[in-house]
Parts: sequence; C-alpha cells; structure tokens
Amino acid sequence: MSLLVFGSTALDSIITPKKKNPRLLGGSGSHAAVAASFFAAPKLIGVVGTDFPRKYISLLERHKVNLKGLKVRDGKTFHWAGEYEVNMNNRRTLDTVLGVIENFSPTLPVAYTKLPYVLLANIAPKVQRQVLDQMKRPKFIVADTMDLWINIAREELLALFKKIDGLIINDSEAEQLTEISNPITAALAIIDMGPSFVIVKKGEHGAVLVHQDGIAVVPAFPLDQDGVVDPTGAGDSFAGGFMGHIAASGKLDFETMQEGMAWGTVTASFTLGSFGLDGLVSTTQAELEARMSEFRTIARIC
Ligand code: AMP
Repeated sequence: MSLLVFGSTALDSIITPKKKNPRLLGGSGSHAAVAASFFAAPKLIGVVGTDFPRKYISLLERHKVNLKGLKVRDGKTFHWAGEYEVNMNNRRTLDTVLGVIENFSPTLPVAYTKLPYVLLANIAPKVQRQVLDQMKRPKFIVADTMDLWINIAREELLALFKKIDGLIINDSEAEQLTEISNPITAALAIIDMGPSFVIVKKGEHGAVLVHQDGIAVVPAFPLDQDGVVDPTGAGDSFAGGFMGHIAASGKLDFETMQEGMAWGTVTASFTLGSFGLDGLVSTTQAELEARMSEFRTIARIC
C-alpha cells in the first residue's frame, strides 16, 4: 500500500565524540521514507535547494522512494548541524539554516491526495497541516514533532492534534507538552488533546503505545555501546518502519500497531549503527527480517 511521507529533506553535519561528518543526506522525511521503503512504497513530499547532491537523489530512488513530490528550488537545502556528548542521549543543535524550507508551501501531486496512509514526519506544524488539508479522507494519519515546535508553535500543533490519528513523540517532549513526567499519564493527557493513540519513545528503554484498546511496551533492540555510532534519525526511522508495516498490512488494530512498533524498533537499530542514512541504505531486507526474528525471541513478541 502506498504511503505519503512528508518531512524535512536535509543536509546534516554531525559531530560525535569519535567523528565529524559534514553534509550527509538527512532530514526527518528522508530517514522516514527510506525506513518505510522496506515495507511499502513511500511517496516523499519535500523541498531541496540547487546544492542538493545528485548522488542523494539517486540514493533515494534506489530505495524505491518516489520523488515526484520532491521539489528543487533556487537556494540552499535545509542544513542542520548537531553534536552528541559521550552519553549519546544528549545532543545539542549547533546550527539550523532553513534555506528553501523557510518559505516552502507544499503542493501535492493530484494522485497523492487520495493516498490512504500519511506520515507527517517532524517539520513545522503549519506545513504539516497544509499537506493534510490537501488530502481526501486518508485512512490513517500519524504525526511526529519536536521540542522546537512545542516551544514556538504550540497553538498550531494543538490544532493539528485534532486532525490526526496518532502522535509519535519522545519522553522529554511529552513532558514538555503536558508537564507530566510519567510517559503513560502524559500520553493519556495528549489523547485528551485529539489523537486516538500516542507512542512515547524512551531511547534505550524502548517505546510505549497508549491506545484506547490498551497499553503495549516494546523494549529497545539491545545494542552495546559500540553499536551506537550516530542516533540522528533513529526516531524518524522508527516512525517510518512503524507506518510502513501498518501500510503493508492494511490493518489498524492494536496488535498490528504493537507489531509495527517492533518493526520500527528493529529498523531504527540499523540507523543507530552508522552515520546518517548509511546504516539503513546498507541493510538488506533479509538482514532486517533476521534481526526482527531475533527481536521476536528477545522481546517475546508473537
Ligand atoms: P531525530 O534524530 O529523529 O530527532 O531526527 C534528526 C533529523 O531531523 C535530522 O536529519 C535533521 O535534519 C532533522 N531536523 C532537525 N531539526 C529540524 C527541524 N527544525 N525541522 C525539521 N527537521 C529537522
């Protein structure tokens, strides 16, 4: 089943305690779309500048990401720079250059307006809403967000919550949004704001799904310290894997969502293992499935 993915398409400069890597392919939309491509046929909506390397277009195409909705505009591609501490849970943004994303107003190809599954990866809630407003009754809409939008665009975010089925958010953002530190109680408070379910990501402690039919916890895939090279995009990969599984299965019940979280977790574990998108693009379908089989045993998921 076809899946619409909207988010940032970026050039990322990443510093970890071990290495610096400038101008890698990044962005919430790129990570989510490549992650989803293991399961479904993602159609990416986004914008890049004329400096966006041709090799990254080829890379996305090789991974079956449909780029009919990716616009090239005069100017610079969105650039994000971040630095991780030795404890890689701690990251600070060094620089954000909006470039062509600043005045981007997405217009969907007509054929995309009827797509049933929509993933609004992290980007300004105002433009997430612009995409939704062009769609004709999607079957299932999930959004992601970040601390920046909770700070500077809270009203727009709360308006978006009334239009989506599910929200994927990390634990510190859930607390920032609700002022509740318990992730489950915070998720219940977010459900009161609109979405019918919330997935709270808790880093190496896994993720929890809070849904009207129950609560499910999925642990993180166990990786030792050397297995975590660069966490950038892990959250987007989780969302892409989750939505890809849902779109491929065509089902929206609690068990399918729980299994989707497990696929999202396994997909994200490959992102963590290398810089930028390198981990995902060098992973084969067979490797993903083998790790999922291992995870089913470890996590006791049927
Ligand atoms: P994550 O590690 O899951 O938080 O996602 C990291 C990705 O988010 C990077 O590839 C960045 O390019 C992208 N990103 C960072 N800041 C923003 C922003 N303000 N809007 C959209 N995407 C962003």
